[in-house]
Formats: sequence, structure tokens, C-alpha cells
Amino acid sequence: MIKLTKIFKSYKLGKEEVPILKDINLTIEKGEFVAIMGPSGSGKSTLMNILGCLDKPTSGDYALDAVNMLVGKDSFLAEIRNRSIGFVFQTFHLMPRLTAQQNVEMPLIYSGIKKKVRREKAKDVLDKVGLAERASFKPSSLSGGQKQRVAIARALVNEPSFILADEPTGALDTKTSEQILDLFTELNKEGITIVMITHDKEVAEKADRTIYIRDGQLFVEEKGEPVHA
Ligand code: ATP
Ligand code: MG
Repeated sequence: MIKLTKIFKSYKLGKEEVPILKDINLTIEKGEFVAIMGPSGSGKSTLMNILGCLDKPTSGDYALDAVNMLVGKDSFLAEIRNRSIGFVFQTFHLMPRLTAQQNVEMPLIYSGIKKKVRREKAKDVLDKVGLAERASFKPSSLSGGQKQRVAIARALVNEPSFILADEPTGALDTKTSEQILDLFTELNKEGITIVMITHDKEVAEKADRTIYIRDGQLFVEEKGEPVHA
């Protein structure tokens, strides 16, 4: 379970503190597929960075599977992050010099897994996303949809309990987007929690639940009162 409580985030701009996230309260149960929608500049990526422990809030609490993610040693939190969270980005963030297989192996190298096991695990997830025959290709020889599949395979390789995707279909055409969303739906059916940030209504409709963010506050409905509890 993911639980954010009273999250505030502000940035310093000269002498001023500019509030970006204002009292965010959000609980996501294990196995949910949640879309977070909002206009540009509303705070989606800021929220994603906090959920992914890539950034810390100015104040508030974050519990991931009952572990307080805001206290404790950085190394301990980094380990939990690597084990629990798979990241998928709009622009794929693949290493251009590495093959698909090597890209997928990266998180395992980071976790200190032996070469033979790494190879097998990476093969398995590439197979799962339908890219087994492209394992030796570099990103430049792959289509956008294929690159995103490699990125999803990389996100899966540590067997995370949740996938955090920031505009995963933002750089893809409609048909390819649908295929990527189908893959997310399939992974979600297998039990992986998915949190997907998007500003596209049709994309959000693939999720079980949509939460709206506007001007740094969450809303259950697109219009109406912000969620404070
Ligand atoms: P988009 O849809 O364009 O990706 P977003 O909803 O992801 O937008 P954020 O990237 O979370 O928006 O940014 C929210 C606000 O916080 C913006 O006004 C942005 O300028 C500001 N912001 C983000 N990161 C920083 C930073 N490191 N320092 C200062 N301000 C920041
Ligand atoms: Mg963003």
C-alpha cells in the first residue's frame, strides 16, 4: 500500500518559497491501477518524484508497504526503492550505447546479481513484453513502442510491487499507446500496482481509478472540492 499524508512541497525562488504540492493525501491499495491526471505545471511530476523517492517533500509522511520512506538511511531507502518500484518515463530513458538486453540488466547490476542470473531474468522480462527477438538491438534500431517495452521490461526486472509511469504514452501514437496500455493492464492483472501520470483523458480511462491534480491539490472528481482527508 502507498500512503501519502499531508504532503507539502515547495521550491525556493530567490527569497520566496513557492508552494507546488499543497496538502496531498493519497492512499493506493496493492493491486490498483490508478491514473493521475492534471494540466501542465499542476505538479504531476513533482508528485511522481516523491512517490518514487527521487525527491523528498518539504513536509508530510510517505509510507510504502508500511515502511516510512522519509526517515532512515539513504542507502536503506535506495534499496527499498530499487526493490519495490519500477520507473517508466515518457522519453524512455534508455542507455543509447547498450542493447535492449543490457539496458534491462542495468537494475540487476545495481542490485549485485550475478551475470548468469541477470541474463536469464532480462531474457524472461523481454519475452514477457514481446521483445525476445530484439534483445540484441540498440535503442536507435527500435521503434518508440519497442523502446517503451524495453523500458517496461527494465522496470519489471527487479519484480517491483509497483510501477510508476510518468506520461508513458506521451511520445507514442494512438495505436502504439493502446498496446502499451494493454501491457500495463496485463501486468496489473498479475498483481502489480500501477500509478500512471497522464494528461490524456483516453489514456486515464484505462485505469481503474483517476485522481485529478490541479494547482498542487488532489481532486476525486475533475471539478469539485480538493481532497483533504
Ligand atoms: P507537465 O505536464 O508539463 O509535465 P507537471 O504537472 O509534471 O507538468 P511539475 O513538473 O510537477 O508539473 O511542476 C509543477 C510546478 O513546479 C511548475 O510550476 C514547475 O515550474 C515547478 N517546479 C518543478 N520542479 C522545480 C524545481 N526543481 N525548482 C523550482 N520549481 C520547480
Ligand atoms: Mg511532468
